[in-house]
Amino acid sequence: MSVVDRQEWDVVVVGAGGAGLRAAIEARERGARTAVICKSLFGKAHTVMAEGGIAAAMGNVNAGDNWQVHFRDTMRGGKFLNQWRMAELHAQEAPQRVWELETWGALFDRTKDGRISQRNFGGHEYPRLAHVGDRTGLELIRTLQQKIVALQQEDHRETGDYESRLKVFQECTVTRVLKDGRQVSGVFGYERESGRFFVLQAPAVVIATGGIGKSFKVTSNSWEYTGDGHALALLAGAPLLNMEFVQFHPTGMVWPPSVKGILVTESVRGDGGVLRNSDGKRFMFDYVPDVFKDKYAETEEEADRWYDDPDHNRRPPELLPRDEVARAINAEVKEGRGSPHGGVFLDVSTRMPAEVVQRRLPSMYHQFKELADVDITAEPMEVGPTCHYVMGGIAVDSDTAAARGVPGLYAAGEVAGGMHGSNRLGGNSLSDLLVFGRRAGLHAAQYAAEQAGRRPRLDDLQVDSAAAEALRPFSAEAEVEEPSGGPPENPYTLHQELQQTMNDLVGIIRREPEMKQALEKLAELRVRARRAGVEGHRQFNPGWHLALDLRNMLLVSECVARAALERTESRGGHTREDHPSMDSKWRAVNLLCTLADPTGGLAATDPVRGQIVLERETTEPIRPDLLALFEKEELVKYLAEEELSE
Ligand code: FAD
Repeated sequence: MSVVDRQEWDVVVVGAGGAGLRAAIEARERGARTAVICKSLFGKAHTVMAEGGIAAAMGNVNAGDNWQVHFRDTMRGGKFLNQWRMAELHAQEAPQRVWELETWGALFDRTKDGRISQRNFGGHEYPRLAHVGDRTGLELIRTLQQKIVALQQEDHRETGDYESRLKVFQECTVTRVLKDGRQVSGVFGYERESGRFFVLQAPAVVIATGGIGKSFKVTSNSWEYTGDGHALALLAGAPLLNMEFVQFHPTGMVWPPSVKGILVTESVRGDGGVLRNSDGKRFMFDYVPDVFKDKYAETEEEADRWYDDPDHNRRPPELLPRDEVARAINAEVKEGRGSPHGGVFLDVSTRMPAEVVQRRLPSMYHQFKELADVDITAEPMEVGPTCHYVMGGIAVDSDTAAARGVPGLYAAGEVAGGMHGSNRLGGNSLSDLLVFGRRAGLHAAQYAAEQAGRRPRLDDLQVDSAAAEALRPFSAEAEVEEPSGGPPENPYTLHQELQQTMNDLVGIIRREPEMKQALEKLAELRVRARRAGVEGHRQFNPGWHLALDLRNMLLVSECVARAALERTESRGGHTREDHPSMDSKWRAVNLLCTLADPTGGLAATDPVRGQIVLERETTEPIRPDLLALFEKEELVKYLAEEELSE
């Protein structure tokens, strides 16, 4: 087999978004030699696209805020399916992580008295999002990168080599986590430009690869979000948790077609933007569900007063959690009250002066001007739901971020499950990745130090089979000779069919027959994907890259479809038309996906049968002191009777 470059590190971090960089900084500061790998250019990750801000209960704008209120909001947003210990740690530690960013050079917008400013967002009781205009993610990544450079300069002064203790491998894709028995031994990947294979040996691997949005046709996600980390963990033997919960952000662009799905930040509504249908009606007042009735305004007058006097008025219903707003928009369009291009209207032009719009929402102003020729200071935007975020992910230990069942494997950020339950609140992702990125880096470094005397062995057979798997698309012609063969398949076509299937059949509103149809289509696509063929050679070959991504997209799509079919209720980011209510019996149920072939050798499984096994597990009871933060009347809406009596 091909000669593969090999290097030894203590901790390998896969992904250079906020979670990956924060993990890498922590691991390096704890003394671990740390490598970071990312699929695109260093600095280009979803984190950089985050607009609205970082949720942290600092209480700068309303002193009533504290971690307990943030915890409550997060649990409500997730409809109580959150891994509660994660929600607790997140609410407690987020402010420290924001202040720490400031000490590393982040420049947040300020309040009049000079504190870090915080803005309103859906589902957050108080103004809580620390922000930098609508370009918060850019500042977050810039700051973390600056910190990495500072650490590398420190290392250079000591060792003469900038990369002796912290090195970034950019434009490299990891395709397998390698193991020594049950334990992690490193990763296998390829350089996207040269196609050269490489192995980084390490006792600890942190997966921080972000989301899965590219498995859906209409999405705010960019090209690299093909569920790689989710698939890497599955293939390494770790379970995925509650994959049915996919967030459809209520406001994506709907026009022109080439930009359909691009995000319109929630800050637009947080700063006063309102949603209207084709009759000009502010329809969200008709969609406040019972569980939120006492917290949201009933009239436009009350909703408008809230912006100036939040202590004596209830919030506008445009600021309900995202799942509620997305469903409402979907219903309005279905009822024939949509905008000309199949969305609804989002208006800031009649709500604030043009110069305020341009100052507070500069990216949105430019985005609409340049991509749709719409001046949002003078006319409304047209918006509709777009696949945005996955709440499901690698099942992890709340405190250490260790992936279940695979010693040495850690996960943080969007790729990890549990924290957000069935629905994430806006702003809670940036804080999640700082809090749990740090924890993952810390525990991965500690684990690696414990393995110092007995580092895991690298298995050459695994390396060979990872290389063979990666080369398979170049020999698709040969596969045609197999009895089950057909013509070689174009990976672009397979991607498109998969995205359309997930969008139409496992999208924002789900029905049993459609999900079954999706599973049948996925089975067909799995068979065809074995013949996904590419021409040419390994030097920058995007067709080959797509062919390799397909394995991951098919795995995560099957997880989403199977889990969505199994959960016969509607909760957060999972809406069943045939089971429209939330069912408290399902509150205590987690759905875990594992690989049908535990050796991770996908070729051995029958592609028609499916590759995923689904199991139910009972969630850990919520600690009584945390339950005591809620009124009993509220808990009754979420918990089953047995849980309440306990
Ligand atoms: P990412 O930032 O997504 O980074 C993933 C990294 O993994 C990348 O470096 C990628 O190249 C790498 N990678 C992936 N696969 C591989 C592989 N196989 N091999 C090697 N590397 C790989 N959240 C908020 O809290 N507030 C907001 O205002 C907000 N706004 C958003 C706006 C947009 C347009 C989008 C898309 C998301 C927004 N979110 C927001 C969500 C948030 O940005 C993401 O959930 C978060 O940034 C994910 O961070 P991460 O570190 O987990 O992964």
